[in-house]
Amino acid sequence: MTQEVSKKPMDAIMALCKRRGFIYQASEIYGGINGFWDYGPMGAQLKKNLRDAWWQDMILRPCWGRNGPNGKPVRNVGLETCIIQHPKVWEASGHVGGFNDPMVDDKETKGRYRYDHVMVYVPESGEAGDKPVFAYVGDQPSEAKQKKKAEKTFGAIKSVALSTLPQPWTRVIGPDAEKPGTLTEPRMFNLMFDTIPGAIRDEANKAYLRPETAQGVFVQFKNVVDTTRVKIPFGIGNTGRSFRNEVTPRNFTFRSREFEQAELEFFCHPDESLDWYKFWRDFRMEWWKQIGLAGENLILREHEKDELSHYSQGTSDVEYRFPFTAPGFGELEGIAHRGNYDLTQHQKVSGAKLDFFDTERGETLPNGGKKGERYIPHCIEPAAGLDRGALALICEGYTRDDSRASPEFLKLHPRIAPVKAAVFPLVAKDGMPEVAEKLHAELSDKFWKLGGIEMDEKQSIGKRYARMDEIGTPYCITIDGETLTAQTVTVRERDTATQQKVSLDKVAAFLSEKLGV
Ligand code: ATP
Repeated sequence: MTQEVSKKPMDAIMALCKRRGFIYQASEIYGGINGFWDYGPMGAQLKKNLRDAWWQDMILRPCWGRNGPNGKPVRNVGLETCIIQHPKVWEASGHVGGFNDPMVDDKETKGRYRYDHVMVYVPESGEAGDKPVFAYVGDQPSEAKQKKKAEKTFGAIKSVALSTLPQPWTRVIGPDAEKPGTLTEPRMFNLMFDTIPGAIRDEANKAYLRPETAQGVFVQFKNVVDTTRVKIPFGIGNTGRSFRNEVTPRNFTFRSREFEQAELEFFCHPDESLDWYKFWRDFRMEWWKQIGLAGENLILREHEKDELSHYSQGTSDVEYRFPFTAPGFGELEGIAHRGNYDLTQHQKVSGAKLDFFDTERGETLPNGGKKGERYIPHCIEPAAGLDRGALALICEGYTRDDSRASPEFLKLHPRIAPVKAAVFPLVAKDGMPEVAEKLHAELSDKFWKLGGIEMDEKQSIGKRYARMDEIGTPYCITIDGETLTAQTVTVRERDTATQQKVSLDKVAAFLSEKLGV
């Protein structure tokens, strides 16, 4: 039985994440720090599996070996760049001047909100008149409470954006505030964290923590071209931590101040860029489905023309219906046609030549070769967030079925599950632990690169199954009385809780087949 994601309780999912060691609040023993999360043993492995899946399918064997729109295999290389770059990188990219969010403060509650996230309730029929209207932050838990208050005052209500109301907002009640008129006017707020490298604490030495991994690729484009054998079209992938001083971090790890990105910058000839844009947009959607987000909770949203940057011929978002965004969706990945904007900007600001001499283009010469063409490549950027990806996989996998002995379980794709299988001796006697240890050693030897094989001999078998269900382990293998007499084990499958007998000497082959390795 699978539940609709909108009915999945976020508090139960968060509790499971804590209880089973997926996600902890950062600095929890000091009361936590807003917008920062740590991954426990299960979460760290799950996220590594997700990062590895990205790296394998984007860099090592791009697009599962299929051809691009040019009829040739897709070629990508990897890169790993620094969190702190020369400050001019962020001037050239536009982040120093333009990476701003408008925010409003609440003078009463000291709450701080994104101006474009604050929604206001007004009566269904026209204006609010003399009565106060009610504001709330769109995806805040206080929403339901505020909505009820507004319904009590107005009867039928509709919600409008704060920005559509005339200022001053003396009749607007801030989220969680008691009195109206306490919201300030919006102020622009730069999302980049800054720091000062070196001993001299001088503003002139200010540098930034990167707000995205993409710019590291653009500034190393020339080095990659000069030191490797890449030829256009090709991509450069970069994964790692990014930092944004989000005005209101919220919704668990969805909007954090430190998070991990996996970005590919794919460089191609301008004439082919639209084909590559469509190719990457469709592949990235397929990829998320392949690792476990299949179904109606995943959509590809093509941006309207008026949403596009001036240089872009197209942008799409892969969006997932999280329990806290339902019935709406939240962005997992953006796939953007960036034209030649970034390389042009860095060429202008740094003075380095960032064009590419393409020996396979231009007029055909008498010897049959090509004259060559020099151009600044266009770039298609699939930019994924690994924390949002991990959270989507956990939300999608979370299932509650009260008819089961272990009602909560995580239906994770075997590639993503942190533990692939667990071996249990039914009881800690009659030689069962010894057989279990031997099987555990054999399976660990064979599968360790994929993630853990666990052995557990404590507590009742039901509790052991429950623990494995909650961390999403696809198979549990129990050594029981029949193992000693008939050399078989009982294999239990997570999603159906069905059991089958498998010969002890065939367990490794069984797992290989089921895990697809
Ligand atoms: P949003 O509109 O939700 O702020 P964005 O459009 O600014 O996101 P991008 O700049 O396109 O995001 O970044 C690419 C990806 O990085 C996003 O799709 C998302 O998965 C991830 N990401 C961005 N900001 C955050 C954040 N604050 N916390 C977690 N992940 C994030």
